[in-house]
Amino acid sequence: MNRKSLKGYTEPMRTCVGCRESKPKNDMIRICCYEGRLSVDVTGRAKGRGVYICRDPECLAKVIKKKALARGFRMGFDEKALEAVYEEAGRIIDGTEPEGAADVK
Ligand SMILES: [Zn+2]
Repeated sequence: MNRKSLKGYTEPMRTCVGCRESKPKNDMIRICCYEGRLSVDVTGRAKGRGVYICRDPECLAKVIKKKALARGFRMGFDEKALEAVYEEAGRIIDGTEPEGAADVK
């Protein structure tokens, strides 16, 4: 199915917490926070509040630099939790998450 061919369907837009631009939700990574725990929401359906970042290493770098997750969720996080999320988001951006194992180096 090609969703772009569907007329009258407006793709939901979300604002990137890194660059503050609005982009189609499907081009972004959702990071969610549920009961104070951060995770990268690969399904897009995880519980809790979510913020979005572009699939772009520069945006991830901005998010890290600006501590945009703490701002987006209006709370502080453990450094280790943040690092784990940055790392996972980075892997998804690089396209090296286990699912796409076709291009093995
Ligand atoms: Zn962005």
